[in-house]
Amino acid sequence: MAKIDLGAKAFLDQQRGILNEALQDAGLDTLAVRAGQLRSPEGEHGEAMFMTSSYVFDSAAAAAARFSGDDPGNVYSRYTNPTVRYFQERMAALEGGESAVATSSGMAAILSTCMALLKAGDHVVCSRSVFGTTNALFSKYLGKLGIHTTFVTLTDLDDWQAALTPATKMLFLETPSNPLCELADLSAISAIAKAQGALLVVDNCFCTPALQRPLSLGADIVVHSATKYLDGQGRCVGGVVVGRKEQMDEVLAFVRTAGPTMSAFNAWVFVKGLETLRLRMDAHCASAQALAEWLCEQPQVEQVYYAGLPSHPGHALAARQQRGFGGVLSFKVKGGREAAWAFIDGTRIFSITANLGDAKSTIVHPATTTHGRLSEQDKAQAGITENLIRLSVGLEDVDDLKADLQRGLHAL
Ligand SMILES: *Cc1c(COP(=O)(O)O)cnc(C)c1O
Repeated sequence: MAKIDLGAKAFLDQQRGILNEALQDAGLDTLAVRAGQLRSPEGEHGEAMFMTSSYVFDSAAAAAARFSGDDPGNVYSRYTNPTVRYFQERMAALEGGESAVATSSGMAAILSTCMALLKAGDHVVCSRSVFGTTNALFSKYLGKLGIHTTFVTLTDLDDWQAALTPATKMLFLETPSNPLCELADLSAISAIAKAQGALLVVDNCFCTPALQRPLSLGADIVVHSATKYLDGQGRCVGGVVVGRKEQMDEVLAFVRTAGPTMSAFNAWVFVKGLETLRLRMDAHCASAQALAEWLCEQPQVEQVYYAGLPSHPGHALAARQQRGFGGVLSFKVKGGREAAWAFIDGTRIFSITANLGDAKSTIVHPATTTHGRLSEQDKAQAGITENLIRLSVGLEDVDDLKADLQRGLHAL
């Protein structure tokens, strides 16, 4: 191999060694800012964005060594990209996993996990209260491939246990759930998975590692839609899978082959987003708590769903397994669809959009948008009533948000 290539590799290996040693016992905030960065010989301070589809080799022999796998350097950006690697290593550090694989979206993260780790004949047990598209992926597309899924009630441990069959290879859930903030006991469900020899996969999109680290509570794999809080400013679509190296190597092999790769640009946005993750999450939590408490006092509000309220059935569990209660809450106004729509249309600052995890606060009517495709029976079972409104609380002044919700109440 040509000399200059070895020199650059030695430089990067040495940097990685020094950094890994310094970060061994580092806290979450330090990891969020420092983990995964590897400076190029240019000495850039900020993480560089490597906008390149492919990489050159110093010689034909060097190219052969790369392609054979003897030299682990970059070949092509569907396989590896330095900026994507920064994001993967930073996410692995934050979630406390051995390895991470970035994907083009949150759905690609879930699909890649399933394609890599399941085969025809395998059975999945999945919470009924997952993201709607996740539900469709399991029931429609994986079902078509002979991977069958039983849906259960997130909070009911007996339901999880009863759904297991000898073919069950994966348990899948989100906690807290959307939009009613229901809580799953991760340690208890992980014990059920372990006894069965199945993998517990947790979609940690709503909490992020700043508030909840499922791997430390017994989950095997964490998936994310990076589109939400990891970005935090509503700019890019992306996803990531985190877990043990053995399984992540399989997920990576699928992503490299099938191609739902994260772009370097998006990876760069997410890497910078992670630097402020904990500060943002703490601010989202504080404002969501204040608005939830305020909504409870309003006579036109029938019920508020937020795990930070002591009256919420998952409050004690959330206090135990999360560092904060999150930025998403929902509530029911007195009346039906007309009242809910009038409230939503009465606000001026909240954006009417289904997205969440943004610096900008958002408001949505689940029954006719995010959960609109559910049958009436499924809606009733999931508690998605016509008077339910979901908020994703952003980073605006909380008094301005309160005044905006007051506008909604005046419109009733
Ligand atoms: C948005 C979302 C997804 C899907 O992520 P995309 O990035 O939109 O593909 C999966 N799970 C949860 C909980 C989500 O909120």
